[in-house]
Amino acid sequence: MDKRGILIVVSGFSGSGKGTLMKKLLEDYDNYALSISATTRSPRPGEEEGREYFFKTTEEFEKMIAKDELIEYARYVNNYYGTPRAYVEKQLVDGKDVVLEIEIQGALKVKEKFPDTMLLFVTPPTAAELKNRLVGRGTETMDVIEERMNRAKEEAEGMEEYDYLIINDDLEDCVREMHSIIQGEHRRSFRSQAFIEQMKQELKGE
Ligand code: ADP
Ligand code: 5GP
Repeated sequence: MDKRGILIVVSGFSGSGKGTLMKKLLEDYDNYALSISATTRSPRPGEEEGREYFFKTTEEFEKMIAKDELIEYARYVNNYYGTPRAYVEKQLVDGKDVVLEIEIQGALKVKEKFPDTMLLFVTPPTAAELKNRLVGRGTETMDVIEERMNRAKEEAEGMEEYDYLIINDDLEDCVREMHSIIQGEHRRSFRSQAFIEQMKQELKGE
């Protein structure tokens, strides 16, 4: 089988449980690498440089754009967010499946540049549950929660652009399901070109 990893983009409404899900996926399975984005937004309490994000000034970020160091970038609520290229390429070559947790504009740009990318959209089972999770997380004021619920309405318009819809109801089930979907993706025939060529050559020699 071809050894190169798969580029996986995960998007979803704020509060859908993407962060929780990714953390568990990386804990439960070895073969994943999570890309760490660069951003111009300020760190939230508890966030660390190089763990949640690489925190940049606007000038530094624009230099990264100019030097083509980002696979994609987007503006989201007045800040830049982007995916550093070097880490992603290295991990893919090493055979890791690389997960980018990014919003929809970036997701579509990545798919356009790299059509083999797998796009996954994470949603809770109901809109009411989305609100419960945002409230339960306790990290935002009610005003911000309303903004995020409004933003979710817009983001829902893009759900059909994704290859897979992942319903995060029971967390454990969801992590297993996500892993098995990705395993299935490895068996798509177009991902095994080298194997196919090898088999054809061997058969010619028989
Ligand atoms: P996101 O990264 O998509 O914004 P989080 O991972 O921060 O979302 O999750 C939002 C809240 O929902 C957190 O309080 C988290 O503990 C909770 N949560 C995540 N997944 C589930 C689940 N399957 N069932 C119940 N609560 C969940
Ligand atoms: P937050 O500020 O809440 O951490 O992230 C805001 C939004 O930016 C989220 O939807 C998150 O998925 C998205 N995001 C994080 N990193 C990137 C990135 O590198 N590129 C793009 N396009 N979006 C990102």
